[in-house]
Amino acid sequence: IIEALDIEKSFGDLQILKGVSLQVKRGEVVVLIGASGSGKTTFIRCINLLEDIQGGRIRVNGRPMGYRERADGSLVRESERNIARQRRDIGMVFQRFNLFPHMTALQNIIEAPIQVLGVSKAQALEHARQLLKQVGLADKADHYPSMLSGGQQQRVAIARALAMKPQAMLFDEPTSALDPETVGEVLQVMKQLAEQGMTMVVVTHEMGFAREVADRVVVLDQGELIEQGPPEQIFSAPSHPRTRAFLSRVL
Ligand code: ATP
Repeated sequence: IIEALDIEKSFGDLQILKGVSLQVKRGEVVVLIGASGSGKTTFIRCINLLEDIQGGRIRVNGRPMGYRERADGSLVRESERNIARQRRDIGMVFQRFNLFPHMTALQNIIEAPIQVLGVSKAQALEHARQLLKQVGLADKADHYPSMLSGGQQQRVAIARALAMKPQAMLFDEPTSALDPETVGEVLQVMKQLAEQGMTMVVVTHEMGFAREVADRVVVLDQGELIEQGPPEQIFSAPSHPRTRAFLSRVL
């Protein structure tokens, strides 16, 4: 469902991604790991076109993201409006939850479906209540973000992303800004989502989650994909010396 081919990304003179390719099948859970600064966050932001890329292609559901193919096979950049539309297919959860502070949990969740998808308020509310239940926050519908813990806010952010009925979800270090005691509840919600068959790409430093939930673990190192495979293989018998070095530091 997601195909990123040979993605290159630089900030100024600094090349952060040196041709990273990743294909994610429908229903697959891919966890990206690697040392700080290896380019994990940059890579998933590229998938969603939150960063411009200098080289490579991204396709979601077979359609080129950000570009349109002309009849002769050449590519033209899509309008910002069309890019925004393409982005809707992919939900994104950030390290910082970015909830609207002046809106309750429920209002945060119904905003985009109403404004962007044109769903009726009644329908949006019904779906939002269902999603709050799914993330274990049915009783917090009318709370403002400031009245919620970090873990609760992140669960609202997940519900908000799901409200757009995305075909895949990207998580950018969703628990790294949380107090340790609320990390587990967010990982639990993500695990349930994975079990329900959601296609997910997750950047995380939570190796326990990677081991337990990932179908595939992908290791980035200095802007390159150095190794990938099922978690048992990556954690028990990594083949790349830099994967071994990384894991020996974090495990
Ligand atoms: P971490 O686990 O610490 O979040 P990461 O693997 O996700 O690391 P990135 O956040 O993708 O790494 O960053 C990769 C490199 O790109 C870092 O050296 C970072 O300083 C640099 N970088 C990221 N964003 C920008 C930016 N907007 N401008 C310039 N450099 C950037």
